[in-house]
Formats: sequence, C-alpha cells, structure tokens
Amino acid sequence: MVSRVIPVDPFDLVIFGGTGDLARRKILPGLFRRFCAGQMPEGSQIIGAARSDMDDSGYRKMVADAVAEFGGGADCDNGTLDAFLQTVHYVTTDAMGEGGWADLNSRMQKDCVRAFYFSVGPSLFGPLAERLHRFGLATPDSRIVVEKPFGHDLESAKALNATLAQHFDETQIYRIDHYLGKETVQNLMVVRFGNMLFEPLWNSQYVDHIQITVAETVGVGGRGGYYDKSGAMRDMMQNHLMQLLCLIAMEPPAKFDPDAVRDEKLKVIRALEPVDWHHIVRGQYTTSGDVAGYREDVDDAKSRTESFVAMKCHISNWRWAGTPFYMRTGKRLKARTSEIAVVFKDAPHSIFGADSGRHRNVLAIRLQPNEGMTLDVTIKEPGPGGMRMMDVPLDMSFAEALGPDVEEAPDAYERLIMDVIRGNQTLFMRGDEVEAAWAWTDPLIEGWQARNDVPKEYDAGSVGPEDALMLMHRDGRKWRDIKA
Ligand code: NAD
Repeated sequence: MVSRVIPVDPFDLVIFGGTGDLARRKILPGLFRRFCAGQMPEGSQIIGAARSDMDDSGYRKMVADAVAEFGGGADCDNGTLDAFLQTVHYVTTDAMGEGGWADLNSRMQKDCVRAFYFSVGPSLFGPLAERLHRFGLATPDSRIVVEKPFGHDLESAKALNATLAQHFDETQIYRIDHYLGKETVQNLMVVRFGNMLFEPLWNSQYVDHIQITVAETVGVGGRGGYYDKSGAMRDMMQNHLMQLLCLIAMEPPAKFDPDAVRDEKLKVIRALEPVDWHHIVRGQYTTSGDVAGYREDVDDAKSRTESFVAMKCHISNWRWAGTPFYMRTGKRLKARTSEIAVVFKDAPHSIFGADSGRHRNVLAIRLQPNEGMTLDVTIKEPGPGGMRMMDVPLDMSFAEALGPDVEEAPDAYERLIMDVIRGNQTLFMRGDEVEAAWAWTDPLIEGWQARNDVPKEYDAGSVGPEDALMLMHRDGRKWRDIKA
C-alpha cells in the first residue's frame, strides 16, 4: 500500500541553518522525498539561509550530496533530482547582523505560504524572529518552525516564548518534536480512540503499569559541549518522553484538532505528581574496552551530568491514580530502541491452577526501529501435555500488515514540515505545554544540584545502572529488555 499524497499549497520554505547537520541529514533529503512523492507543488521554493558565503549552484551541490548520503527514496532518479534542485536557492544571511536580509526578502514570492525553519542554535531563535519582522519578511500568515532545545529551564522557556510572541502569534509558531511526527505515535492515537477494544481498559483498574524507554547506542559524540550542560533529563525526558507520556495518558479530545489535543496533553503534565527523589536514578556511562566513557567524551573528568535517567512517576487524576509510569532514557545502551509498553493486570483468577505461571497482556508500541505494535495474548501451548499456557505476540507491525511499500511512508521530519505548510499545529508543542513540562522538570534538577548528586556508573552496551533495575524490582516489576 502506498501512502496517499495530499496536496499542499505552493510555499516558500526558508531554512535558517540550511548548511547545518540537521538540514543535511533530515530536512533537505525529506523535502526531496516529498518532491518525489509529488507533494511539492509547482512554484514552491526552498531557500537555504546561513552564514557561509555560497551561491545557488554551490548550495545545490551541497543538497545533492546530502540527498545522496542520507537517502532519496526508491522512486527518485537523477532527472527528478535535477528538477528538485531547480527549486532550491541560497541566500547568505547573518542571523545576528544585517547582512543578507534584503536579498532574502527579494527572493521571497508573494501570494504563497511562507515558512521559516529555525534550524540553528537556540541563541539565534530570538534574533531571527526579530529580524524577520524588522525586514518585512513576516506576513500575518507566515509560520516559524522552532527546533529543540526550547529553553534550558522554565525561566528561559518563558523568556523565549515572550520574545517569539512579540513578533508572531501562537498560531504561527511550530515548536517541533520529531517524535510526534512518527507514524506509530499518530497510530497510537488512532488505536486508542478509533477502536472500542482498548479505551475501556485504558485506566488504573486494568493497567498495571506503563513503561516508556528511549535507548540510544551512541554516546554524546561531537555534541559533548552542549550535552554536558544539558543531560538526559533536559535533552530527552523533558520533551520527547514527556510528549509520549502525554499521548499515552491523555483523555480523549473532543476532536482531532490542534487545541483540543494540546489541551488534553497539557492536563496530563499538570497532573504529574512531583517525583520522590528515591524514584529517580541518574547514570553516566563509563569507559568500557575501546569505548570512551562519558567524562572522556565531554572532556571533563569531574562531570556530574547524567547520560541516563530512569524514574517512576504518577499522574494524579481519576484515570491513572495508582498506576505507575516508568520512564528511562540513556546513551550507550545495549540497543537503539524506543518503545512504550502498556502492561495490563493479571486476570483476577486463574482457572488453570496456580502453576500455570504469570501471563499478562502487553501492548508494545515500537517507535524505532521497525515501527509497529504488538499485543501479547495468552494462549494454550499447542500439542498434548495438558493446559500449558504461553504468551504470543499479535503483530500489528506496519511492514507486514500494509505491504512492502509502507517503507515509503514519510519520515517524521517530512510529515511535520508538510503539516507546517498545511497550517496544522496538532503535532507541535504549544507554549504553555513546554512551560508546564519545565515547571515539572526544574525542581527535580534543582534537587540533584542541591544534594550534589553523583550519577551512578554503567557500562557502555548495558541496560543502564543497577539502581534503575532496582527501581522496578522493588515494586515486583521488571523492565522489558532493551533490544533492537
Ligand atoms: P549545526 O551547527 O550543524 O548547524 C548550524 C547552522 O546554523 C549552520 O548552517 C550555520 O551556518 C548556521 N548559523 C550559525 N550561526 C549563524 C548566524 N549567525 N547566522 C546565520 N546562520 C548561522 O547545527 P545542527 O546540528 O544542524 O542543529 C541546528 C538546530 O537543530 C539546533 O538548535 C539543534 O539543537 C537542533 N537539533 C539538531 C538535531 C540534529 O540531529 N543535528 C536534532 C534535533 C535538534
């Protein structure tokens, strides 16, 4: 089954930071795939804007290289690439200065959708918003796409929201979290709210607990300087895992519209209880064999920044009172995987006797790799030998259910950029959501600082520190394996 292409209006998309890593790896190849799919209407332009001195042809060469390196898609041939490159332009622009803005303005078309992607460091978000306004590029209908990190704490997030609000209305601001652009994340909402089967069981009466894991195998790599000031809590938990928690825990919105969905997500964040510090484990990977440890990676032998965090939290509302949510994320773990698991309670009574073992239904929602869902159900082990039971997964994996062409489904960035052009903010974070997430996160970080907390060590390639395993063991539960 090939995904259906819904046309969008012609657009000008300016990518500030158009020569950077994110633009090269995700944004530009993604746009090319949309072009190949026929979703980029005639008359649209992609305009790279960055500090480097370059002309259109130099930039087109860079875009062609990025497409070659980071994937163009099965149907794309050289002729299509040439046609795509004709839509690409470049204007040398200084986000902190005056250079390039008049040229950029004259490059823009009238009467089409205008979107400005801030794929630059966060210190440039404010200056860009201000200059877009001052140089007359911002129209009442234009949109800005703001990358993470959105602030460092509540105070800085509020300040950034206030700066953007001086120049743009909230309906024009698209705070991107690429996790929300994943096919499975949207499917999660359809599975929950489009079926009768799950929603009646989706509460503390039937759900024992929920686990959210986002595990990476990479270390901090070249981002050490940035990461060491941030850590797993700010870099992953406050945004990506929090967003997943919201989608899994929120009440059904009245309709699938941006504010209805975001209102419900906000209520979840506001209902989160403060986390007891005994229920949080911070970790830092150590040197193992040839693999450098975190402190070597960030070049600070005394760093106390966490590259791993796990926690147990509770949502104080009627639906979830009593059901713990366990979340963990970290670098240099055993496998790269992102998964949400809804673990249902045991059947209240086993008619098959006490030695039939413990069997539980688990709905596992995999975000990467191999996006899809499985539902573990208990069945009889086939063959003679009495009523022995086993758990088998009902596989709702998209690749199998929807056929081989599903690989062509857009990735998160392409989908989200098309939503920006359409003017659909449902999958983007609203300012008050981001602030509420920081308001919950800040006291946890301040608590560590006040206690001078030292992260627990864990080996590269492991499942994280021992204390994280104990966090669940103490409750008579266990983490699902981290596997690709
Ligand atoms: P990068 O350092 O690779 O690129 C930065 C870009 O900004 C370059 O094009 C550079 O020319 C441009 N730039 C810098 N100063 C400028 C100025 N004064 N005027 C105009 N342009 C200027 O960074 P990146 O990795 O592409 O990240 C960009 C943003 O996206 C950051 O906010 C980052 O946190 C976020 N982000 C990146 C990734 C990723 O995978 N790279 C993932 C998620 C979020």
